[in-house]
Amino acid sequence: MTPGFLTAFGASLLAGAVTTAGIFMIRRHETWAREQATLFACFAAGVLIAVSFLHIVPRSFAMNPRAPMFLFAGYLFMHVFNRFITAYVCDRPETSGYALGLVPLVGIGVHSFLDGVVYSISFSVSAFTGALVAIGMVLHEFPEGIVTYTLLVRGGFAEKRAFVLAFLAAAITTPAGTLVSYPFVSVVDPPVLGLLLALSAGALIYVGATHLLPQAEREPRRYSLVALGAGILVAVGIVLSAG
Ligand SMILES: [Zn+2]
Repeated sequence: MTPGFLTAFGASLLAGAVTTAGIFMIRRHETWAREQATLFACFAAGVLIAVSFLHIVPRSFAMNPRAPMFLFAGYLFMHVFNRFITAYVCDRPETSGYALGLVPLVGIGVHSFLDGVVYSISFSVSAFTGALVAIGMVLHEFPEGIVTYTLLVRGGFAEKRAFVLAFLAAAITTPAGTLVSYPFVSVVDPPVLGLLLALSAGALIYVGATHLLPQAEREPRRYSLVALGAGILVAVGIVLSAG
């Protein structure tokens, strides 16, 4: 076991724990958790957007001249993937409530697994890149846990079963993704790693700018702009102090 693996796996375990905390809090303190979820989403969006534009994208471009194509592909893949999940649910009004909860659950499972792969990639590039990614990614797991649980309860699942399913799909899949991908990702040549990093940058920009931000705009809370600004400040601060 290398130090790189231990930090990547540690970060993904933390991500899984934060998802679980989100699921737990939405069960126990619903109003409080919903308010916090927006703030977490805004802060995470700020970190993810800043980190992607200021560190990950330039880093990947420096590692491989073909990286721009992969950046674009990563973004587009996330869009198509989410589109597919949404279309599947919305185009079938006759689907039962259970399917309504289960179909996005598969999507969330795949997404959370890929989150784990992103930890493998970023920590393989460097501990610094990994840590930057982890700040934004770990925080976005809190609203992710809440969304997953809410979808299942709306789909008609009993609370206990929704808790277990949300934990399996959104929490445990992230460390699993790191565990499965790390042995492969950590041994690829730097130019190939640059392409993988560009792919993850596309995905991170999607999560930050296309997924989290509009969600925050739809639910305007007093401190959402402050949280976004704080996320940006933290990321910019770290990037500048290292540069
Ligand atoms: Zn995620």
